[in-house]
Amino acid sequence: MDLADRLAKERRARLAAERLLEHKSRELFVANEKLALHARALSDQIVEQRQVVKSALSEAEALKGQNSRFLTDLERAHTAAVMAERRLWDSINTIRDGFAVFDAGNRLVAANRAYLAAFDTDAIAPGIGYDAILRLAAETGLVDIGNQSPDAWCAAMLARWDSDQIEPIVLQFSNGTWVRLVDHRARDGDMVSLALNITDQMRIWAAIEAIPDGFVLFDREDRLMTCNQRYRDLYPESSAAMTPGASFESILRYGLAHGQYADALDREEAWLEDRLRLRETKSVDFEQELAGGHWLRVIDQETPDGGRVGLRVDITQAREQQAALEAARAAAEAAVRAKSAFLANMSHEIRTPMNGVVGMAELLCDSPLSEEQRLFAETIRSSGEALLVIINDILDYSKIEAERLTLHPEPFDLERVIHEVTMLLQPRARARGVDLIIDFDMFLPTRYVGDPGRLRQVLTNLIGNAVKFTDVGHVLVRVVGIEAGPGAQQLHITVEDTGIGIAPENLDHIFGEFNQVDTATNRKFEGTGLGLAISRRLIERMGGAVWVDSELGRGSCFGFRLSLPVAEDDGDHPATVTLNRALVVDDQFINRTILERQLATCGMRSVLCRSGAEALAVLAQDRDFDVILTDHDMPDMDGLSFASHLAEAGNVTPILLLSSSPATAREAPGAEHLAGFLQKPLLRADLYRRLQDLSPPPQPPVVALPPAAPDQPRRALRVLAAEDNRTNQLVFRKMVKDLDLELTFASNGREAVTLFRSLRPDLIFMDISMPEMDGRDAARAIRQLETDGDHVPIVALTAHALEGDAESILAAGIDRYLTKPLRKSVICEALSEFTPADVRPVQRGEAALPQSGAA
Ligand code: ADP
Repeated sequence: MDLADRLAKERRARLAAERLLEHKSRELFVANEKLALHARALSDQIVEQRQVVKSALSEAEALKGQNSRFLTDLERAHTAAVMAERRLWDSINTIRDGFAVFDAGNRLVAANRAYLAAFDTDAIAPGIGYDAILRLAAETGLVDIGNQSPDAWCAAMLARWDSDQIEPIVLQFSNGTWVRLVDHRARDGDMVSLALNITDQMRIWAAIEAIPDGFVLFDREDRLMTCNQRYRDLYPESSAAMTPGASFESILRYGLAHGQYADALDREEAWLEDRLRLRETKSVDFEQELAGGHWLRVIDQETPDGGRVGLRVDITQAREQQAALEAARAAAEAAVRAKSAFLANMSHEIRTPMNGVVGMAELLCDSPLSEEQRLFAETIRSSGEALLVIINDILDYSKIEAERLTLHPEPFDLERVIHEVTMLLQPRARARGVDLIIDFDMFLPTRYVGDPGRLRQVLTNLIGNAVKFTDVGHVLVRVVGIEAGPGAQQLHITVEDTGIGIAPENLDHIFGEFNQVDTATNRKFEGTGLGLAISRRLIERMGGAVWVDSELGRGSCFGFRLSLPVAEDDGDHPATVTLNRALVVDDQFINRTILERQLATCGMRSVLCRSGAEALAVLAQDRDFDVILTDHDMPDMDGLSFASHLAEAGNVTPILLLSSSPATAREAPGAEHLAGFLQKPLLRADLYRRLQDLSPPPQPPVVALPPAAPDQPRRALRVLAAEDNRTNQLVFRKMVKDLDLELTFASNGREAVTLFRSLRPDLIFMDISMPEMDGRDAARAIRQLETDGDHVPIVALTAHALEGDAESILAAGIDRYLTKPLRKSVICEALSEFTPADVRPVQRGEAALPQSGAA
């Protein structure tokens, strides 16, 4: 071989190799192609699978998370449940009420502390049977089982659990606790037992049960909620209807059907209607009569929640007592009336002879007597008068007590009444040198409408006491007032003295009946101790009030307040005074200032001096006075010697002397220098009149004089006096013996009527209490006999001081009545008042006709 072969061989070989390579390359390419496709598919698959795995992985991850969360939740829930149960038990343990759960076999499953505490033993624990618990409670005396045996009680308690509807039951524990057992069987057979502590409620209930009155409570639908046993007992006929929940109306209806209400008899429906209407008011309080004579006080009140609470009080006994009291009071009043009647009669019996005693003594005093005889006669008279005062006091008091005193209001002059009273007391005051002063507010009206007689009585008592208990100084009556509505004045009247005074501890006491201050200084004074009691009652009857201020040893001030209507002006106008200046001389400061004020009201100016000497000194300088007013009784130089001094000094100014006894002053030396006398205490009207007299006279008006009456011969006054008592006839006769009149006596009413026919008297004095026909009947008979236009004045004489007399006397046609004992002055006054124009006036007749007498 050669090289070409070899080379050709090699080339062929190379070419073959090249072709093979190419083939192989192609095959490889295809394979590669395939592989590439496959690889792509595979890689896609792998990617896909990877994706799946990835998502599976993340799902697994998520599940894992969820799972662990679930596990923690579960754990937490478990802990919470445990906690909740613990809390629940903690709470259940804190309540005061007992709580226990038993299983279907009545074995204790669980109980709270309160339940277990009631037994105070470890024996009560889960697993113990209910029967064992009951036995323990009964046998250890833990629960009050009444008079049942422990066995019976346990059996009853167990049986209770077997019933379908287990009713609550109340148990009392030995430690005073009250428990209400409320048991309930659950569907799974468990028993839930509640032991409610109702001790507080039971205490209140026990209290309500303990009250002696009926107690009841209704709800807002007016259904009975509860009532105590007392309530049931008070309504025995209705009590059967008093079940909780029953309506008020149904209880009433039941009661009506069973005759419970006495006041509903035969008018049941109307009664029910009335009662239900009453029910609509917020509160009622009335008395109710029940069957069997029982009486209840019914008090009902709405409660805040719209229900009603009621109380029933048994007032049967109280009413019986009241009835008894009323009967007793009626009896007492009858006794008081009887007493008053007795007193009236006694008064008559006592006054009639007293009339004789006092009247005869008065006449005796007027006759010529030896000194000693005069003393005796005066004593008889004054004792008699004192006795009459006491009788009058007692009578007045019994009148007020018997409420038989009526007031007789009429227009009167208050200032004049006070003046009259002080005038009467003046002699007593003067005898002691005590000054009696009136200070009547000059801007105050003087005329009022009231009972002047009774006011006089009060003033006499107060001023009389003031004079009685004052040895030195003064007694001042002061009247001031303020307007109290239209036409009325609220008057303040005080009586002030400088006497012995009253200790504070006696101030209340003295207004009582028969009460006097019992001390050594006081014992020497006489009196009944009734005066102030009467005065107070009188003022109270007039709607006023009395008071007193006093200081022991310094003096007292008694006062009263009274509202009185002002009386119409009676035309009695104050005098016109035209004087300008006055010189006032008085040692008493009060008198000086009162006078100054009184003079100022009539336009006068005053210069005040406290003694004669001071006044003389003033007058030496200044003589320009229109009038000089001087007090009589002054130390050093009295009023009379002051007047004498003035006269010596050539005084021409008129002097007026103010004296408590002008009569004495008139007779005394020095009186000749005086222009006039004024009675103390001074009445304003007197003062003004006197000043007016001194005023220069105004031009006299021209007045036509009436034609002179033809001088007819006039006859004497014919007087008929009806009086059964011989002594009184004698007294009367003696009292009028000096008067120019014709006197005839009748000794009873019938005789008086007969004599009236025959005598035709000008005036009749008629005793009221006479045998056969009394004064009233006689007066009535006389009035019937009178023809038209005739009217004989009849003056009744009465010893009766009891009220009702005045009315009945005047109703009988009597014109006037005088109370015994008779006074000469009063009889004379009546005689001159009733003397007709054609009859000789009843002065002392020089040639009095012989007096005839039928008795
Ligand atoms: P009587 O004066 O009749 O005893 P009263 O009822 O009038 O009865 O008075 C009762 C008592 O009050 C008097 O006894 C006296 O103790 C006391 N009394 C009254 N007024 C005064 C007075 N002005 N000063 C001192 N005591 C008085």
